[in-house]
Amino acid sequence: KARKRFGQNFLSDPGIIQRIVSSIAPKTDDNIVEIGPGKGAITELLLEVCPKLNVVELDRDLIPILLAQFAKYKDFKIHQADALKFDFSSLTDDGQQALRIVGNLPYNISTPLIFHLLSYHGTVKDMHFMLQKEVVERMAAVPGQKSYGRLGIMVQYYCQVENLFLVPPECFQPKPKVDSAIVRLKPYQELPHPARNVKLLERVVNVAFQQRRKTLRNGLKQLASAEQLDALNTDISVRAENLSVAEFVALSDELLELGVKI
Ligand code: SAM
Repeated sequence: KARKRFGQNFLSDPGIIQRIVSSIAPKTDDNIVEIGPGKGAITELLLEVCPKLNVVELDRDLIPILLAQFAKYKDFKIHQADALKFDFSSLTDDGQQALRIVGNLPYNISTPLIFHLLSYHGTVKDMHFMLQKEVVERMAAVPGQKSYGRLGIMVQYYCQVENLFLVPPECFQPKPKVDSAIVRLKPYQELPHPARNVKLLERVVNVAFQQRRKTLRNGLKQLASAEQLDALNTDISVRAENLSVAEFVALSDELLELGVKI
């Protein structure tokens, strides 16, 4: 029986499962980790191509099912763990190649999980996720769009984002109440707009969007004095949703220069 608290909606449409795996395009020697394999809908097709596979699953009741189903794969490794706390660097620190992360994620933890995974951007080749449609839209949003905010800015700071395709509720068992979409994230080898202090950038973006209808100046009052704000070259009389990622980086660097602390 599917568990609501684990966000369990199992994929049941073979056509969609095939389409997801085709967009991942696994290769034999890839270093793939799947988050939340569930009953193995995606796992099965991944294993056929890439028998050396790691999965991270929180629900202990699923572990014996997965073990039995994939017993013939000797290099299939199940980590019974919370993906929010799992140390993904343990899968690359023996000189393995960059990680490919895959997951039909539990929607209740998707945002914190994405932030956790972004911290491994340097050792990740790409990520393919099934998420609530609106979350994918927020990740891919550009300045001026209503869905543009903290998630989009921080994801786009580290990654190239592609909104691949929609997946309707009918493709799952049980059916979720929302539409889903597949997104591909490719971490940049070299960040296009590196911030001098990424923690400060995160903080600036956070306060900027706390009151998204007010001007940037309003939010930034929490971080800097009026004199410091007056000294900025960035125009802060606009709303946060009008600033690009590059402009947020420039703003954060300026604030650092003016002595603003995190
Ligand atoms: N991949 C399967 C599929 O497509 O049919 C299952 C997807 S289901 C939406 C999400 C899966 O993530 C479930 O198997 C659930 O038990 C697991 N899960 C939930 N929270 C988790 C966590 N914190 N860490 C790892 N796995 C988790």
